[in-house]
Amino acid sequence: MTDANLYTRLESRFPQPTAERRFAILPDGRHYSYADVDQLSGRFANTLVALGVQPGDRVAAQVEKSIEAFMLYLATLRAGAVFLPLNTAYTAAELAYFLGDAEPRVFVCDPAKADALAPVATEAGAKLETMGVYRPDATAPGTFFEEVDAAGCAFRTVNRAPDDLAAILYTSGTTGRSKGAMLTHQNLSSNAEVLADYWRFTADDVLLHALPIFHTHGLFTSSMTLMAAGGSMIFLGRFDADQVVEWLPKATSLMGVPTFYTRLLDHPGFTRELVGHIRLFTSGSAPLLAETHARFEERTGHRILERYGMTETNMNTSNPYDGERRAGTVGYPLPGVELRIANPETGEVLPQDETGVIEVRGPNVFKGYWQKPEKTAEDMRADGFFITGDLGVIDERGYVTIVGRAKDLIISGGFNVYPKEVEEAIDALPGVTESAVIGLPHPDFGEGVVAVVVPENGAQITGDSVAASLKDQLARFKQPKHVFLVDDLPRNAMGKVQKKELRDTYADVFKG
Ligand code: AMP
Repeated sequence: MTDANLYTRLESRFPQPTAERRFAILPDGRHYSYADVDQLSGRFANTLVALGVQPGDRVAAQVEKSIEAFMLYLATLRAGAVFLPLNTAYTAAELAYFLGDAEPRVFVCDPAKADALAPVATEAGAKLETMGVYRPDATAPGTFFEEVDAAGCAFRTVNRAPDDLAAILYTSGTTGRSKGAMLTHQNLSSNAEVLADYWRFTADDVLLHALPIFHTHGLFTSSMTLMAAGGSMIFLGRFDADQVVEWLPKATSLMGVPTFYTRLLDHPGFTRELVGHIRLFTSGSAPLLAETHARFEERTGHRILERYGMTETNMNTSNPYDGERRAGTVGYPLPGVELRIANPETGEVLPQDETGVIEVRGPNVFKGYWQKPEKTAEDMRADGFFITGDLGVIDERGYVTIVGRAKDLIISGGFNVYPKEVEEAIDALPGVTESAVIGLPHPDFGEGVVAVVVPENGAQITGDSVAASLKDQLARFKQPKHVFLVDDLPRNAMGKVQKKELRDTYADVFKG
């Protein structure tokens, strides 16, 4: 059987990893070639094996973004183990849940957190190692590097079957406990190869990488696609608009979440001249406002390519590279991905133009939730389609539009209210930057519609004036019964508006 290890697959696309082929450029001036990647990931893989990691074992990491952290991921793949990246914001209590659930052999954390996390690692039976961020003026801190010093570079990548696990990523878990999505070598390699091709990445591409690497977008969609094309990355520790503006002249592409683009549009240095040479800007992980799309095109002449994916499925759809990139839509299903819209209750497949739950099937779709077969079964149809929980609609040209999460759907007085429809009406009002519409417990209607609105700087609007402006635009049951004005909407690291947080904040508005 041919080896399906993702690392081997990526490497085999480029038979000779040469010292000349550049892999990463770091803002501190360091450069890595693909030959360096081979050697460093080999040393890290030998280190993992020396620490007792066997194929199939989990290697968990809660570390700051760095090229070394990325090498730890590649080394885990090469050792045939399963990478478990953890959001750097998670607290010790949250980590106790993840480590207890995934039972990793090794847990690598930031040196500054080692004391606090040692009991958590012990409780989960994991060996604790530390990894800090390299600084030119200091030796790379962390026990893992001390182990690496003793390791050789030569490592024979462990053979894997297509269905073997490469990674477990815990979903952001806005309802209930977060679940570990099991991603196989095939899931990741198929998506990387399809995207490299669909988005026309080549070895000449330089991706400006400013996303976190504990999430699917930064770890897989961007890095794996780039590696599948043999291109290189400018690897920034995080998104910082000044730094991105400084490095864009050296890049050919940027993959971002919508907030990257709104922040760049607010930056005086972000000009048409700065990005005239850029080949591709993509956006995903959260909805890109049509208005941002339009402003971006006006400023730069570029149309952002919006795509749609999720932790469990990798990328599902994309706007076309050559055809029309339609604002507000997420484009067409990617090659090899089947997508349909179904009635959420009955599973009946719905015709074009009808809104329902998005279901997908293909080599990109995950193997299931870690140690949760019942939950996996709940979210899978008998014919292998995964029920994404996103509501969407397909138009006459085959473009998919996401209307929101099924759990955010508001049912008021028995009528369905799609928050996005109300948000679009509010966002179009003068003086409004953006809005979030939620449903809250209501004594008569079951749920009542509530809007939380961010006004433009200095705009003369009030909650009542927003509500009044909607009276002629929306059916009565869709009109917000309360409109709150706020400075900012709560967002997570990927720029997603945290509706659960809003529902908690305003939980009592219809009570008493
Ligand atoms: P995550 O698993 O953190 O990547 O979150 C996946 C979810 O993000 C999806 O199920 C969608 O609800 C949302 N999402 C991803 N891309 C888009 C997009 N382009 N537009 C709207 N929502 C998106």
